Amino acid sequence: MSVRELSDQCYDVIIVGAGPAGSCAAYELANAGHGVAVFEEKSAPGLSVCCTGIISTECFDSIGVSTDVIMTASNSARFFSPSGRCLRLQTEEVQAYVVDRSSFDKAMASKAQAGGASYLFSSRVIDLIPGGDKIQAEVLVDGVSHVFDARAVILANGYRPGLSQRCGLGRTKSFLIGAQSEVALNGIDEVEVHFGREVAPGSFAWLVPTSSGRGYAGLLASSHAGRHLRRFLDAICLRNRIQDRDAEIRQKAIPIGVLARTYSERVLVIGDAAGHVKPTTGGGIYFGYIGAKMAAAVLDEALREDDLTAERLRRYQTLWKAKLGKELSRGYLARWLYSRLTDRQIERIFGIMDSTGEAEALLRSSEFSFDWHGRLVLAGLRRSAAYPWLRLRHFFIREVGI
Ligand SMILES: Cc1cc2nc3c(=O)[nH]c(=O)nc-3n(C[C@H](O)[C@H](O)[C@H](O)COP(=O)(O)OP(=O)(O)OC[C@H]3O[C@@H](n4cnc5c(N)ncnc54)[C@H](O)[C@@H]3O)c2cc1C
Repeated sequence: MSVRELSDQCYDVIIVGAGPAGSCAAYELANAGHGVAVFEEKSAPGLSVCCTGIISTECFDSIGVSTDVIMTASNSARFFSPSGRCLRLQTEEVQAYVVDRSSFDKAMASKAQAGGASYLFSSRVIDLIPGGDKIQAEVLVDGVSHVFDARAVILANGYRPGLSQRCGLGRTKSFLIGAQSEVALNGIDEVEVHFGREVAPGSFAWLVPTSSGRGYAGLLASSHAGRHLRRFLDAICLRNRIQDRDAEIRQKAIPIGVLARTYSERVLVIGDAAGHVKPTTGGGIYFGYIGAKMAAAVLDEALREDDLTAERLRRYQTLWKAKLGKELSRGYLARWLYSRLTDRQIERIFGIMDSTGEAEALLRSSEFSFDWHGRLVLAGLRRSAAYPWLRLRHFFIREVGI
């Protein structure tokens, strides 16, 4: 069908963005029998992605794409303190997979297309115009402006606040920058996480093997992430742990905070666009997927009842807050506390974790989960001198609006 023919019809739902969250919602809604169009500004799904692709086995099994997208499986990691002290943790079971994000996005888009969703690539949504019994999306298709009608819109456009602001939903206040390079690794066969203000102030850096001799080096930082990563690459190159210190660096913003409102009349916001990201690690694929499924379920019912008022769609926010709210607020607390630690304090925590076996104990406890860090955060704090900080939780809950 030509773009003109496509723009002549009124879709039930227009989805902005063909990342994992958008394609999950597209699949669910198309499968429920709704007319779905997904607009993606890139010319194909999974192009130029900036992501390590680590997801839990729980997440992978829920999403249900082919195992072809898995590059490696992981049941262990090495954690390095600022001085280089190493703590190795291992579980019997595989905890996570590293998926090839490009193939993963393609697989999710193919699944939604097979379910009946239409995808339009090289199509950038530049405006949303509410009006009466529909909402219109102005889309630049290969640079030419077209207007498409829909009964509802889902914003799944990643951390790009323009369109949510346009819908009166504001923006998340705080974010980190993730920077990553694909590199040739020398003898690194386990995930490594490096802490310390020199490496990644207030956050952490990683080395993640993906296939024989290759992997990702990356880090999160509140600013100058590219510069910090270049320094990290130089340092590990000097130690002969990677080969290509001049590898290309890709960067992307990661929201650390949720939108105060993720719905309005005929509009829902999901994935990174809503701030559904683990605050501890910056991982957003699983929480984005959980939110996308909830958004699709609420919208499915609202479309059937032909009630797309903000009041009706508010149920989406109630649902995701019930599932993710506590987890997110505990994660913000952990991130906030961690970002204030000096290298000496991090070193001390490593010392205690190592010498007392606390790290092993937490790993073996019922509180441990690859995805759900809230209970682990509480358990860790209860065992530490920092427990009184928990009193700040209520203040934090107010600040992030959960
Ligand atoms: C360095 C780094 C490493 C990461 N590693 C992990 C990890 O290991 N595990 C994990 O779970 N998460 C990780 N993340 C986070 C993860 O990548 C995101 O949480 C995830 O991609 C969010 O999915 P999404 O569908 O919400 O948004 P996105 O994947 O960002 O998709 C949004 C899509 O919308 C498109 N778009 C944007 N605006 C428009 C527009 N106006 N019109 C049309 N299309 C538009 C974009 O082109 C994009 O394709 C990492 C992030 C970074 C930066």
